[in-house]
Amino acid sequence: MEAGEDCCVKVAVHVRPLISDEKLQGCKDCVTVVPGKPQVQIGAHSFTFDHVYGSTGSPSSAMFQECVAPLVDGLFQGYNATVLAYGQTGSGKTYTMGTGFKDGFQIGIIPQVMNILFNKIEALKHQIEFQLHVSFIEILKEEVRDLLDSSSMSKPETANGHAGKVTVPGKPPIQIRETSNGVITLAGSTEVSVSTLKEMAACLEQGSLSRATGSTNMNNQSSRSHAIFTITLEQMRKMNPAIPSENSLNESMNEEYLCAKLHLVDLAGSERAKRTGSDGLRFKEGVHINKGLLALGNVISALGDEKKRKEGVHVPYRDSKLTRLLQDSLGGNSRTVMIACISPADINAEETLNTLKYANRAR
Ligand code: ADP
Ligand code: MG
Repeated sequence: MEAGEDCCVKVAVHVRPLISDEKLQGCKDCVTVVPGKPQVQIGAHSFTFDHVYGSTGSPSSAMFQECVAPLVDGLFQGYNATVLAYGQTGSGKTYTMGTGFKDGFQIGIIPQVMNILFNKIEALKHQIEFQLHVSFIEILKEEVRDLLDSSSMSKPETANGHAGKVTVPGKPPIQIRETSNGVITLAGSTEVSVSTLKEMAACLEQGSLSRATGSTNMNNQSSRSHAIFTITLEQMRKMNPAIPSENSLNESMNEEYLCAKLHLVDLAGSERAKRTGSDGLRFKEGVHINKGLLALGNVISALGDEKKRKEGVHVPYRDSKLTRLLQDSLGGNSRTVMIACISPADINAEETLNTLKYANRAR
């Protein structure tokens, strides 16, 4: 990673363009990206982040190159990593991550991760033996659900849109566990072994289609759950005594085994429960969602505060399922990028400001 190597959390803002719905409602663009600076303005407020991507140019590839590609490189060096998309419903989280099947499936972050991952593997496969696993889960109401349930994974190669059955509700809950050396595991979730890009893409498609969605006043495709697509990369350097190593570093690398994982997280909508006009059951879900996002904010802000880190201040991972699950991939040696997604529309100004404040706190 370039500048700010010591800081383990980077924050980027992604401003999507006005969408046709907003244009039809006569919305005005109320967000300004300061040219040449990672700075965004809304009303009298101005915020600076590690990166800001506006709706012009080709933000999708620049964002990927600057924010995500270094994390994929790190995976090959054994560093865990997490990419989080944060923002209100409709702000472009799913589009940005590529977790939705319809939108962004080709251009989102996850498909691009897959592309460079397999390109790298192809280039290195003569020296290194690779094993890849994928899991895809969601956290809804503080419960972990498997999106790659085996009954709906029978034909992973069927990438035609009919492969995704909705996972049967009432399956035994998945448990988050921690091994004695601090590795977080998910007991009871499907880990699919993949060896090709096509197989991995089929997992993404499968899970995206099973993802629970609920309708709210804001957007009937809105999701109240956190969706976590996890790629685990295991590598074993092949011994090659025929080629004498030129230095001791190469020698020690001869027998290296590395395992690292990359979590790609499409977070639940950050809007307040009252804003969605929800009550009863939905309101309760809202409260739980806030619990995960609240805990995440606290964890990231504790990690970002160097002074606190040096004093060994408690990082509250255990306050939610989301932070518990990401514990070994947030902080420590791992790398984290939070992408705050915002709508430029004036009707969303209040939530946009909330998102920018949350993201600012994470810095
Ligand atoms: P969220 O997951 O945060 O609820 P979505 O990703 O579903 O939001 O995006 C909401 C709408 O905005 C979708 O119709 C999507 O196609 C559109 N959208 C989001 N980001 C972009 C973008 N960068 N360019 C064009 N359209 C976008
Ligand atoms: Mg979404």
